[in-house]
Amino acid sequence: MSEHSEPLPSTPSRNAPLPLVIVAGPCSAESPEQILATAEALAHLPITYFRAGLWKPRTRPGNFEGVGEEGISWLTDVKSRTGLSVMTEVSLPEHVQKVLSAGIDAVWLGARTVSNPFAVQAIADALKGAQIPVFIKNPISPDVSLWRGAIERIQQVGITHVSAVFRGFSPIYASKLGYRNTPSWSVAFELRRQMPHIPLICDPSHITGRQYEVEGMCIEAVELGFDGIMVETHISPRTAKSDAQQQVTPGQLSNILCNLQTYRRQAQPQNSDLENYRKLLSEIDDTLLTVIAKRMEVAREIGNYKRVHHIPVLQLEHFSHVLETNMIRARKLNLPDEFVYNLFTCIHELSTRIQLNESKEQPHKL
Ligand code: PEP
Ligand code: MN
Repeated sequence: MSEHSEPLPSTPSRNAPLPLVIVAGPCSAESPEQILATAEALAHLPITYFRAGLWKPRTRPGNFEGVGEEGISWLTDVKSRTGLSVMTEVSLPEHVQKVLSAGIDAVWLGARTVSNPFAVQAIADALKGAQIPVFIKNPISPDVSLWRGAIERIQQVGITHVSAVFRGFSPIYASKLGYRNTPSWSVAFELRRQMPHIPLICDPSHITGRQYEVEGMCIEAVELGFDGIMVETHISPRTAKSDAQQQVTPGQLSNILCNLQTYRRQAQPQNSDLENYRKLLSEIDDTLLTVIAKRMEVAREIGNYKRVHHIPVLQLEHFSHVLETNMIRARKLNLPDEFVYNLFTCIHELSTRIQLNESKEQPHKL
């Protein structure tokens, strides 16, 4: 199905039964045969855009950096032969000019580009006057303002169809155990809170980095209420020149899309049971804050004691003990280690600042 038959959900009403935006196609265009075979195998699915990277900004040198300009005609060929709308990544203004003059249907800005406001502005300037949907990945670090800033720069030149793509964040070092990218969902939720009308697409391929985990993350994304998914799909993933481990086959994508139907949630909460639950939560939150404030009062008194007795504020050995004790307690309450670690690190940081008399903060602007 071509994107032209369907309006883009640029200002989605959260009650309307919107179709999911589905972006699928290989990480990179490698040859005309590879993208055409992939596109032909996808053409019967409800694909909003067929993706293929032509210019690949790689983190380290020596990896496949894309076929470049040569691939533009391969993409337009895919478009005319299959009827699919096509998109690619732009990282430089010259990419934008080439893509616009060839009639490519949409573009995305990659995480590495979005991390650099000068690069984003140069791309925005090159896009001025064009009406082309632009998808903006989150930057490589969990910085909502940088992501939002990139969206605003593109909007400022008059582009109205702007979507955000959540692909997680580069970890400190690559691990074989966890996902390729750390999801840190709260960053995606914060962008949604700040920019509720920007469609939010999930990129399970780059988050998980593993073919067999892509479906599970697609399901999570639709259950969370994302507006679409971008799934790297290759006719022969094992031979892919980039991101071979995370690409699914068109057949696998077809199954994923079939299974996703049962997980789609669209209704806005309306019933009063939910309201009652929320009242209960609000009371608990109130208690939580009161207890934390009480804890801070005790921390302040300890701070005075340390000052009078010339004891340094930071007592790391004691903090390790606090962490261990609370993690043991929390396990009995079925609370995950990572959450408890983050919670007590946060509490300890405030206690420390209170003991340094640095607690008089400006109210946080929401
Ligand atoms: C991509 O989508 O192929 C890509 C390079 O993604 P990201 O910019 O999210 O790393
Ligand atoms: Mn990729």
